Amino acid sequence: MFWIKACPKCRGDLYEAADIYGKYIACLQCARYLTEDEQARVETLQTAGDRMQDVPGRLERIAA
Ligand SMILES: [Zn+2]
Repeated sequence: MFWIKACPKCRGDLYEAADIYGKYIACLQCARYLTEDEQARVETLQTAGDRMQDVPGRLERIAA
């Protein structure tokens, strides 16, 4: 997953990845790792990938 211009430090682009410790979100531009609080906030934002999906699917996920 990607979030365009969502980095709290530099307004860079964030991406989601995972390693042996689990899932994390980091910035492409400044390499900053988000805290759990920041991750939770970012995950409520619209992602670049979500724009490709149809509206009924989005509404279903929000309701669930
Ligand atoms: Zn950044």
